[in-house]
Amino acid sequence: MPAARVVNVAVPLPVQTAFSYSVPPGWLEPERGVRVLVPFGSRRVVGMVTGRAEAAEQRSLKELIEILDEASLVTPPLLDLAAWTSDHYLAPPGECYRLVLPPAGIRASRAVARATAATTLASDDPVLAALRDGPLRVSTLARRLGRDPTARLARLRREGRVVVEQELKAAGFRHVRVASLATIAAPRGVAQAELLERLRRAGGRMRVPELVRDRPSLRAALDRLVEQGAVRLEEERSVRSPARLEGGAAERMLPSPDQTRVLEPLLAAVSARAFSAFLLHGITGSGKTEVYFQVAERALAQGRGVLLLVPEIALTPLLVRAAAARFGEAVSVLHSELSAGERHDQWWRIREAEARVVIGARSAVYAPLPDLGLLVVDEEHEAAYKQEESPRYHARDVALVRGRLEGATVVLGSATPSLESHANALKGKYTRLVLSARIGPRGLPRVEIVDRRAALKSGADPVLTPALREALATRLERGEQALLLLNRRGYATSLLCRECGLQAVCPNCSVSLTLHRGGRVALCHYCGHETRAPAACAACRGEYLRLTGYGTERVVEALEAALPRARVARLDRDLASRRGEVARTLAAFERGELDVLVGTQMIAKGHDFPRVTLVGVVDADVGLGLPDFRAAERTFQLLTQVAGRAGRAELAGEVILQSHLPDHYALLLACAQDYEAFYAHEMEFRATMGYPPALALVNLVLRSRDADQAARAAAALARTLRESSAGRYRVLGPASAPLARLRQEHRVQILLKGQRPAMRSALRNALLARFGEVRWPGIAVDVDPVSIM
Ligand SMILES: [Zn+2]
Ligand SMILES: [Zn+2]
Repeated sequence: MPAARVVNVAVPLPVQTAFSYSVPPGWLEPERGVRVLVPFGSRRVVGMVTGRAEAAEQRSLKELIEILDEASLVTPPLLDLAAWTSDHYLAPPGECYRLVLPPAGIRASRAVARATAATTLASDDPVLAALRDGPLRVSTLARRLGRDPTARLARLRREGRVVVEQELKAAGFRHVRVASLATIAAPRGVAQAELLERLRRAGGRMRVPELVRDRPSLRAALDRLVEQGAVRLEEERSVRSPARLEGGAAERMLPSPDQTRVLEPLLAAVSARAFSAFLLHGITGSGKTEVYFQVAERALAQGRGVLLLVPEIALTPLLVRAAAARFGEAVSVLHSELSAGERHDQWWRIREAEARVVIGARSAVYAPLPDLGLLVVDEEHEAAYKQEESPRYHARDVALVRGRLEGATVVLGSATPSLESHANALKGKYTRLVLSARIGPRGLPRVEIVDRRAALKSGADPVLTPALREALATRLERGEQALLLLNRRGYATSLLCRECGLQAVCPNCSVSLTLHRGGRVALCHYCGHETRAPAACAACRGEYLRLTGYGTERVVEALEAALPRARVARLDRDLASRRGEVARTLAAFERGELDVLVGTQMIAKGHDFPRVTLVGVVDADVGLGLPDFRAAERTFQLLTQVAGRAGRAELAGEVILQSHLPDHYALLLACAQDYEAFYAHEMEFRATMGYPPALALVNLVLRSRDADQAARAAAALARTLRESSAGRYRVLGPASAPLARLRQEHRVQILLKGQRPAMRSALRNALLARFGEVRWPGIAVDVDPVSIM
């Protein structure tokens, strides 16, 4: 009796461990990365083999139901990357492995053995006998024979008697039958004549569905023509291609002296085929994109793949278009509007190395590119790289780990690097490269801060101060364009009762409702709860309700009142929920069909509008009041970024910031575009308060519908964590989370500050001790959080 073989399988469920299953006798043992069908409780799930298990007590183990892949579809570095993600972020392994597998709903990929024509099927060889009636999957063959046929198959293959091929492509692509004219034939009947005529007009070749689309009766005529040999049918692979990208300028630009200087070490690093990391600090308009592309060309020339990460595809149309024009068919763009089928096709194009340049947001860091040579993380400081649901990974940090595993070059690019990245560069972990000159004739825009307190005292409109209104009017006269930033969507930020002072709050969350559509609709920005705006106060039934605070909708209204001739559009998340609307609005603005674009931080990203000569920031203080340690950093980044949108071509730019806090360092230093000074100032604050990058952070949120239960669980957990800290980290809390109630659940927070490895292992042990290894109910663990709200 041979020893039973046991494998560990990660299942796609929120459980903290992989499970062991035994491999039925006679089956091939599946290797790491192979998908298997396994029993799990009362259901069957598709899991992934994570490795061979130490054969311990096996009697009680369940058996695999089916092996779905002959070989792993996932490359070893990506398997390691998924394992790292699970370990680093304390995330369920099944959820992490799902990131590297083909999109859900994929059929299996299998090796198929078939006998060749040369084989005499009367052979008494058991493998050939089994293949007598047609091709068989190798795993089925193994089951029929009751033993592993690998060795026998190998010999038969060498003898040319059996062919083994992967069904990979059949699983990955849709096939379309194509009809083509084979011989000249005299048609019999009208239908045949029509078909042959259609084929001739199409140049002798046409896809069957198109050929018979409007007249299904032609189908029978086609079959007869095929029988007569007049028409031949063959299969053509079809890739559902997402909406065609319009090409931008494809030509290579001659690098400026500044670009040449940074290109030199980057190209050398790619040529060295070993891991290295760079921080490319380049101000807006300094030509980072061209640097990325030239380095990408070097990687492609070496036969290696290129991954280009952007915070959000819809907001970086320029970069995506330029890449599509430059690299043509080799590009695969992964964006959130792809259909399931398109996503699936792109996965296989990438896996099969047909697409060598992959552009995508956060999750594309796990794209199945074999042999990756270059990873670029553009705008590396963006919060969008952090996934806010489990697994809570940060794509920039994952990119660095992947670069190490693949022996690739990693380039982090930003005009305002995150404090983490800049600190790492100063420590020598990354090589720092600087692009400090703007391409083109213009220098940086002139920036002015308008003190809104003074404007308010004089009774001016709180939305548009006279200075901003005048600047806008001038732009209209000159036929130039303006961007107006307000990082708050909606009409009003809250509804207040004038009699008792109560705010209208969401029934599910402890946040005030935002008013939309001119104040008629009340919406919770956290859970999506939407109602008609109440007509009376919920507490005192008072009817004198007042709208306070304002968002983008209100800015549009103020603009239309002040400048009735201006053509105005709005760009924010509300608009983005309509498919294609962001791209349409941006394109209209680019074509000059709009004068002013009002929007949230979405307008501050990678657009280049040559006719924009004014950027107005309606309320520069929006982010500063948030109870988050990154509030100042985010504000600095956003203001620097949006200011960079003014005056990018021949025209000089002007920036007006309206603020109640005109002396705040984040504002002053953004105006001066002085990154170094901001870094020094902010690092001092982080060091004093013990925030990243001075110390690592882990944020724990415990949720429960029962407030007492959440509080008790948190208190017990905090106690355990304190007991095992040994001075390596501090435990803050438990305390009510800043969002104390969300989606009807109470939220209690514990914050750990200190050394990351110690915090992670203490936390893992504490959670395992308390909840076991299966489920950690109602607990969100966020290692290296971007936001602690
Ligand atoms: Zn009231
Ligand atoms: Zn809510």
